[in-house]
Amino acid sequence: MYNIRSVCPTAAALFGIGAFTDAPAMEEVPALTKDGRADRVLLYNPDAVAWWIFEKYRDLFAPALGLDPLVLRMESVMPSVTPVCFASMYSGLMPADHGIRAYVKPVLTVKTLFDALIGAGLKPAICSTGTDSISMIFRERDMDYFIFDTPEEVNAKVEELIRGDRHDLIVAYNGNYDATMHGHGPEAKESLAALRQNAEAYRRLTDTASRAWKGKRWVTGFLPDHGCHEIDGGFGSHGLDMEEDMFVVHLWKGSGQISC
Ligand SMILES: [Zn+2]
Repeated sequence: MYNIRSVCPTAAALFGIGAFTDAPAMEEVPALTKDGRADRVLLYNPDAVAWWIFEKYRDLFAPALGLDPLVLRMESVMPSVTPVCFASMYSGLMPADHGIRAYVKPVLTVKTLFDALIGAGLKPAICSTGTDSISMIFRERDMDYFIFDTPEEVNAKVEELIRGDRHDLIVAYNGNYDATMHGHGPEAKESLAALRQNAEAYRRLTDTASRAWKGKRWVTGFLPDHGCHEIDGGFGSHGLDMEEDMFVVHLWKGSGQISC
């Protein structure tokens, strides 16, 4: 089983960029394209989608599972809160090494996947909402940032960016499940509806990619940061070193798979 920090060297390897931390690259993901490389990568980050929720509510993931994706159970990092986890996912470093060790959102100064791409002459883009972690901690790079108010606007822009085909890497953030999970509990009907929206969004974006990037090698990922658990009062929470918070479901799809 891999830790979420392996996303960084894995995505770098797809672009032919060598690892710059000691996190192991995942061999299963490059196997999704015909020669282990990708010309275009879309990384969709729904917040707080736990492994246990995936197992319990697999039906809600039907739109995404209809792609017949690679399914991986991934370990998160501690504390299991959003800025800490996404810093690890996109730097390949553990929190002690990237420096975000609590719920704070400073601009990361360590080398990230975005810096590695820029250094290789490639173009990354981030599409996110408000002052959410992904909107904040990867700022101050020479790259495109598209920041909106809602996940719907983010996803519409990502579809436009995929079709426009001006970026090598697109990172998209949706915080809707995290928001409903905190406010109503991980299994409330509002939260389950948000999960379904995340699965549908990943499906739609991957379908768009498979059409717009036809003839290119591409990979898409459904990559949450941490899980969640229910607390007293019908609310949801995360941040602890417990199975519900520390294990997430990651899905990957690539142009080399037969069903594409
Ligand atoms: Zn989060």
